[in-house]
Amino acid sequence: MAHQVPPLPYAYDALEPTIDKQTMTLHHDMHHGAYVKNLNTALEKHPNLADKSAEDLIRDLNAIPEDIRGAVRNNAGGHVNHTMFWKIMKPKGGGDPSGPIAEVITKTFGNFKDFQAKFNDAGTKQFGSGWVWLAGKPNGDVQIITTPNQDNPISQGLYPILGNDVWEHAYYLKYNNRRPEYLAAWWNVVNWDEINHRYAALKAGKEAHEPALAR
Ligand code: MN
Repeated sequence: MAHQVPPLPYAYDALEPTIDKQTMTLHHDMHHGAYVKNLNTALEKHPNLADKSAEDLIRDLNAIPEDIRGAVRNNAGGHVNHTMFWKIMKPKGGGDPSGPIAEVITKTFGNFKDFQAKFNDAGTKQFGSGWVWLAGKPNGDVQIITTPNQDNPISQGLYPILGNDVWEHAYYLKYNNRRPEYLAAWWNVVNWDEINHRYAALKAGKEAHEPALAR
């Protein structure tokens, strides 16, 4: 079975006013849709890769045949990134984190506000399209990183615990060129339960495999 776009776990307008309905519709159906379509097209040339999850495809990009390596990097990356992105947001989300993710944020960054400030600053400074992440190691250590385009921390041996999409397609209709305003508002829709689930999976030595990606 080819890769598929997972349905949004809420309505297109459910994250209003933080993220508007038109942005969600275009972002999920058209942008994520295109990554999946292009990934499936690339994989047609190498049927031996058909059974690999999108996460496994980007884990070791050097193992991907050269003729589709760029396409897999961009489109399997886009698929993994956005599948996470929809799930780590929810209507009436936000607030302060709790549980293990709150503890490691406090341990690493001093307090939640300082973490948010550093994360937002990194996302603001990512030049052009990309993502800002809280990424972790299996020992539970976490760090803020940015990646260009659809690159994912998995490709550098780190696990994406949470990430925000700073491509203009994620915010431009509502926030125009005001990326910092989008980054600040995004925390209002963050789903800390799902993020704690991802952090727990990392520390348990397994990934928070999405059902849609566990193929
Ligand atoms: Mn996007």
